[in-house]
Amino acid sequence: MSTPLYLYNSMSRTKEVFEPIAPPHVGMYVCGPTVYGDAHLGHARPSITFDLLYRWLSHLGYKVRYVRNITDVGHLENDADSGEDKIAKKARLEQLEPMEISQHYTNRYHKNMEALNVLPPTIEPRASGHIPEQQALIAKILEAGYAYETNGSVYFDLPGYARSHDYGKLSGRVMEDLLSNTRNLEGQAEKHSPLDFALWKKASPEHIMNWDSPWSKGFPGWHLECSAMSMKYLGETFDIHGGGMDLLFPHHECEIAQSTAALGKESARYWLHNNMITINGQKMGKSLGNFITLDAFFEGNHPLLEKAYSPMAIRFFILQAHYRSTLDFTNEALQASEKGLQRLMAGIETLGQLKASPTGTISPGDLENLCIQALQDDLNSPVLLAHLFDHLKIIHRVREGLDTITQDLLDTLKRIYHTFVYQILGLVPENKKENNELLDYLIRFVLDARQEAKVNRNFAEADRIRDQLSSLGIEIKDRKDGYDWSIK
Ligand code: ZN
Repeated sequence: MSTPLYLYNSMSRTKEVFEPIAPPHVGMYVCGPTVYGDAHLGHARPSITFDLLYRWLSHLGYKVRYVRNITDVGHLENDADSGEDKIAKKARLEQLEPMEISQHYTNRYHKNMEALNVLPPTIEPRASGHIPEQQALIAKILEAGYAYETNGSVYFDLPGYARSHDYGKLSGRVMEDLLSNTRNLEGQAEKHSPLDFALWKKASPEHIMNWDSPWSKGFPGWHLECSAMSMKYLGETFDIHGGGMDLLFPHHECEIAQSTAALGKESARYWLHNNMITINGQKMGKSLGNFITLDAFFEGNHPLLEKAYSPMAIRFFILQAHYRSTLDFTNEALQASEKGLQRLMAGIETLGQLKASPTGTISPGDLENLCIQALQDDLNSPVLLAHLFDHLKIIHRVREGLDTITQDLLDTLKRIYHTFVYQILGLVPENKKENNELLDYLIRFVLDARQEAKVNRNFAEADRIRDQLSSLGIEIKDRKDGYDWSIK
């Protein structure tokens, strides 16, 4: 590979050449959802961003261990150290078990991700399934002297840690500013400093999700699970840690502090953050009523939506912006994405119908290199799309008879478009999305049997297979060297 892969590291604030710790293996941890409600547009951006990275790294030949967690315990209201657990609250309101709530919304999240053609991670651990690992990590931090116990709860000693470590270096926050901005919140009395955060919380009598521990019957703090689970599955140091920019502070800053306190070194090499989505120029917020769920988008079922938008239109909308740019949802922007996607897919369909000529008037060009360079430059999907759109002109010129194309070049173009559009960008024709590959395999399998019958001069059998397929709506066109097929 001539161009190395550059990724923007939020820690160094520069694009760096990506070099894995132990190639060809890459360890990647991405903070996943807290499963107490339906996934909304804000969830689609990190999942699609890191899906693109996962697909591209795999395409480059890396063996990626991709861990994306499910937060099902310890995430309290307002991301704070006191208040009700988000999942437990929903369980109380709906009179269900907390585990029923988290399972229900995990299932729905998976369905949404599948619709968006987001590949599942290779490991998807749940916080509630890793309580012993989190307790072991707390014990290590206590032993290292960076935490203390008060009334059965354990807090991270942030000023103590900051005396010998650079706390705030990821987000650029300064301890003194943080201190002067801290309001005196409820539940702070147990803490030595208002900046300290909970590693373990003693459960109040009404807190139904709790576990035994050396300190109290309680539950882990929200930041702890990611440190504990990344260590368990990716080792003490790993390559990439990702998430949305909203997690940079305090979540990722606290994760760094915990891992460094326990291990004496930092865990993650590259920190990647996708930027946020705004809705009609506004931040998404509960009070603004603009959390539009993905299901609402797919069904057109929200006052802010003029119509339904397909999962692929949403995926295209997210990919046509660079992951580090802000992205504003408007109906106009999504409708423009819809049209762009249609144009791209129509172009690929036309490409499939082009006939080659013995000599071509089109030169091979540099499309493949341009596509590779765009992605190697910090996953620049908008530039990649611009190149793919630009080369649609060639396809249309051949279609209109203004140019001719050789079989070689035609095959190359098909391979490039299929690779970058379907496999890397994960954009697939909506009507053919389901079981596309399996169907293709099965039909070719049957058609190979027919071809063999013809070779053996068993024409009755060959005709029988063709008629059977025809009755299923599958049309076969014989060519000198084989066959083509299409669905009528
Ligand atoms: Zn996390």
